[in-house]
Amino acid sequence: MIPESTRWTTRALRRYNRAAALSRLYEQGSASRQELAALTGLSSATVTNVVTELLADGLVVEAGSVSSAGGRPRGILRVCTENLRFAGVDVGETEIRVGLFDGALNPLAMTSRQPGRDLSPANVVGLVTDAITEVTSSEDNRIPLLGVGVGVPGAVDERPGTETDDGLVYAPTLGWDAVPFGGMVAAGAHAPVHLENCARALGQAEMWFGAGRGADRAVVTLLGIGVGAALMISDASPRGGSGLTSEWGHTVVNLDGRPCRCGSSGCLEAYVGADAVLARYLEEGGEPGLIRSGTQEGLRQLFHRADTDEIARSVVEQTAKVLGVGVANLINLLAPDRVVLAGWAGLVMGPAILPQVREVARKHTLPHAYAAVSISLGASGADGVARGAASLPVLALLRSGSLPAEPSVEAS
Ligand SMILES: [Zn+2]
Repeated sequence: MIPESTRWTTRALRRYNRAAALSRLYEQGSASRQELAALTGLSSATVTNVVTELLADGLVVEAGSVSSAGGRPRGILRVCTENLRFAGVDVGETEIRVGLFDGALNPLAMTSRQPGRDLSPANVVGLVTDAITEVTSSEDNRIPLLGVGVGVPGAVDERPGTETDDGLVYAPTLGWDAVPFGGMVAAGAHAPVHLENCARALGQAEMWFGAGRGADRAVVTLLGIGVGAALMISDASPRGGSGLTSEWGHTVVNLDGRPCRCGSSGCLEAYVGADAVLARYLEEGGEPGLIRSGTQEGLRQLFHRADTDEIARSVVEQTAKVLGVGVANLINLLAPDRVVLAGWAGLVMGPAILPQVREVARKHTLPHAYAAVSISLGASGADGVARGAASLPVLALLRSGSLPAEPSVEAS
């Protein structure tokens, strides 16, 4: 009988080998068994065994063959991304966006829900699971969901040692304090759930597919009602690298300035957050009807009428100025080579204010730091957070090298 410790080690080794082969193949796009052995450092025999298992699980497929000098043709393998399904969720304060993605994170279906004023965990979970059901039902031949990634506007306290983080969410702006959100969504979605701060999820999408591609240190900002930023550090893999989130929105840009909903005053968010921009417009005597159709539409209209409405123009200019100072602070503090203005409000405001944001940022940074950075608009679109969140279960699959077990639906 094999001792317990040896059996565990064998299992761990097998898992490691599968993960190594699957990850390298995913990054590479396609490879022969021989190339995979060279890429992973595993023996040919081990690669052959691992590939046989991955083929049997449907995670990998034969993708043709190439002739080799003097030998048998070599079979080419690739990850069967088209048969893998993941959901990505963006829990925003104004809108919940949910997408279905394949293993290469191509969007297959998107939908959204409006939570209105009821941001209680129970209501949000109901909307999220309902939207997941809608996107997964959009395909005729329904393929089982392998995992759900969720971006939340707050901090996630992961539970170390668990395969998925049923983690607790602390999101003061939603009124959530230690909400076991992952477990609640998993119970309705019948798939493992991974949680992430939404700025970091957006950062992942911008690094993987958007305006952060090729950057070494990109700061990806998320502009919405709330204002956040994630520092994304490339690790040379095509999967984006690691990220750190910050409370950039609550850095002070004006001593004794406008009160912020965090309880402090003079915060960046109190000037450039979507609600704050609209509030400033009304305070200066703007047209009150603007906000009747909600924050998103109100902000769109405000920027649209900046050509003809003097108050709107002044508010847009002020917003660009304060955002430029906020960006300058990021550059002075973090020395990034790229700053990306993203998030739904970034999409609305960005095109009109980017030149002025650059100019103000230049004025307030040291020349060598400004010379090393480019400031650009996000390129991952309105679904960036959802797509970035969907990368979490994809990365979990690559890390584990195997299909997830039947999900635990307990919040534990
Ligand atoms: Zn604040």
